[in-house]
Amino acid sequence: MESPYTRLTSALIEWHGRRGRHDLPWQNERTPYRVWISEVMLQQTQVVTVIPYYERFITRFPDVATLAEAPIDAVLHLWTGLGYYARARNLHRAAQRICAEYGGEFPVSFAALVSLPGIGRSTAGAILALSRGEPIPILDGNVKRVLTRFFGVTGPPTDAAANKRLWQLAERCTPQEDVAVYTQAIMDLGATVCVRRKPLCDFCPLGEGCVARRTGRQHEIPAPRPMRARRSRQVFMLVAVREDRAVLLERRPDSGVWGGLWCLPEFDTLSAARIFADQSLQRTNEEPQALEMVQHSFTHFDLIISPLLTRCSGPAAVMDENQSLWYNTHEPARIGMPAPIKTLLDRLADPTLFDAPATGRLES
Ligand code: SF4
Repeated sequence: MESPYTRLTSALIEWHGRRGRHDLPWQNERTPYRVWISEVMLQQTQVVTVIPYYERFITRFPDVATLAEAPIDAVLHLWTGLGYYARARNLHRAAQRICAEYGGEFPVSFAALVSLPGIGRSTAGAILALSRGEPIPILDGNVKRVLTRFFGVTGPPTDAAANKRLWQLAERCTPQEDVAVYTQAIMDLGATVCVRRKPLCDFCPLGEGCVARRTGRQHEIPAPRPMRARRSRQVFMLVAVREDRAVLLERRPDSGVWGGLWCLPEFDTLSAARIFADQSLQRTNEEPQALEMVQHSFTHFDLIISPLLTRCSGPAAVMDENQSLWYNTHEPARIGMPAPIKTLLDRLADPTLFDAPATGRLES
């Protein structure tokens, strides 16, 4: 009698021929490098968002050597808007290690791959399964959801015991042959049929054997993550604009939110922003002018940015060239920048902004 593992595997492989995705840009030439780039981009991000980013990235960095040699700013520039910027920094660091330690040859052993920055067990499995057909399991978010429902695994997927069980199931379901097709199929099913809300069970090739469907618990499995209270944080950002409309940007530290990206100088309080403007800039307007607030949502908190427009003729003190730059909004430098900062700078194209009288005195 066929085991539930082989039943799942063969149903998925058969389904993929009919309904799976066959025309994604990273499916054209499945080298380990290309699979790596696509898998990292697809972490926490949907296919439709990733496609244009992937195409631009591969055109600019067609191989690991080009990526390793590029300045980090060029890499972050092509990542602008994709979020989770640690992924881009890790790609760059890993490419440099591949060039230094493997002579630029992409490593194809599991142990070597998981030793590289940003490559975990599932990404290493995906690289080897999809580009080389090696029977190594993967367990990304989509695969977890399918296996959890099909086998009726209880407990939040973040729970260590549930996670261990899911890896065991993933191993058992991964076939010795047709691994690339199976791997793509289970990812596709999770992304298009066994979706988080309202799974399309009537169209699912796994419907018959699925525990969640049989017991009507599709909406309880996987168990939702415990809700965390959502925080919000307010910051002040100085939009220091020179007469030629260049804007002062600072590079953020590598760790933390927007690590390594170029951003407006940020302050926790209005008075700290004022002190910086007074001491570090040759200001030409009397009072910073409050611009419309910008809100940006991260996974666990909302950032509320209060921008303060300050006109100046330049810095009042020497600034570190590696950590600060005057950004020409007419000829933008190719640097990485958080999406809300880009939005804010795009607003500076409005000439009436500079004709508007300064707002009343701001309260600290
Ligand atoms: S039957 Fe429904 S819940 Fe089960 S794997 Fe298919 S889509 Fe998911």
